Amino acid sequence: MGISLCLSPAWIEKRTLEEQGGAAPQDQMRESVPTVPGLVAEEMSQKLQQSDGKSELYFSFGVIADIQYADTDDRLNAWGTRMRYYRHSLCLLQSAIEEWNKEIPCPSFVLQLGDIIDSLNYKNKTSKILLKCVLKQIEKMNAPFHHVWGNHELYNFNRMFLTNSALNTKHLEDKSIEASANTKLSCHEDANPDHFYAYHFSPFTKFRFVMIDTYDLNTVEKDVSSARYKETEEFLRVKANRSPDRFQDYEAHFLNFNGGFGKDQLDWLDRLLTFSDENKEKVVVFGHVPIHPESKKRACLAWNYRDALAVLQAHKCVVCYLAGHDHEGGYCLDSHGIHHVTLEGLVESPPGSHAFGTMYVYEDRMVLHGRGRTRSRVLYYRSNE
Ligand SMILES: [Zn+2]
Repeated sequence: MGISLCLSPAWIEKRTLEEQGGAAPQDQMRESVPTVPGLVAEEMSQKLQQSDGKSELYFSFGVIADIQYADTDDRLNAWGTRMRYYRHSLCLLQSAIEEWNKEIPCPSFVLQLGDIIDSLNYKNKTSKILLKCVLKQIEKMNAPFHHVWGNHELYNFNRMFLTNSALNTKHLEDKSIEASANTKLSCHEDANPDHFYAYHFSPFTKFRFVMIDTYDLNTVEKDVSSARYKETEEFLRVKANRSPDRFQDYEAHFLNFNGGFGKDQLDWLDRLLTFSDENKEKVVVFGHVPIHPESKKRACLAWNYRDALAVLQAHKCVVCYLAGHDHEGGYCLDSHGIHHVTLEGLVESPPGSHAFGTMYVYEDRMVLHGRGRTRSRVLYYRSNE
């Protein structure tokens, strides 16, 4: 059973058109929760407990993206549009964890959506030592982190290192349904670096979370003997008529810092979502790179985002896709009623601001309480009838 908490109606307010910066698509969101500057976790909990008793909180979880910690002076991003506060991001991670730990109830888990340290660490030969610094902060969280691998994980480390590191959280996978299911729903090939990094877990009855590997195909890893390299090479030859060595734009999102999905992973995802459909679950899928062109700028989309989107949209169980990678953040509600939320990047949050959130999960909706640059949102589930 869940805990009887409910959002105060006063907390949920309709956004005005001015706040939206003009007319937003009507189906974009039914309601939005304005960020409450300076509201600390205890005050937030008090507001949540001003319940009218009509709604029961099932559980909550934390979300954070693109920490990209490095012991380096602040500098502009590659486009010269926003500052990156490399050292400060560790302080922000620390304060996010402090806030989550004060929440009542504590979030059941945290989704760390990838790019935990920056690629500058590879050049500075500080990858391992600074990853340890970040993981030391994360150990202070009173709930498990689920770590997604983004492009910066692959700039800093090879897949074998990642597989044997604390960034591999596959041990948190739900293995309980394997025996009863007729199809293979787990990805147990932990020791095989050619295997994609993806798994699923169920934190609450009839809810499932699915991590997907948006760098299953990529040009970051250069192991020419690997099955991944060969599949990437074939994918690009067919799709973009380019080899990984001569990779140039085919579409705006065919860029080296994005990646794609191999056939095995898409088939696995399809099987798993079929199980969830039959089991009448609600499913949140999450990965590093966005997969909907309206959820943020096209340059940050997965290469074959259409293939992944088609799988998600074929299953009524899917209610939300969470990503990072595009530090500006973004949102859209797609034509099938799936919410696509791109979380704002922590590394581009200046001192005095922030970028993380807590998602409160109810029977009919999820409510994202964003801090700082992270927008608060109410995400009603699509009907799965
Ligand atoms: Zn990224």
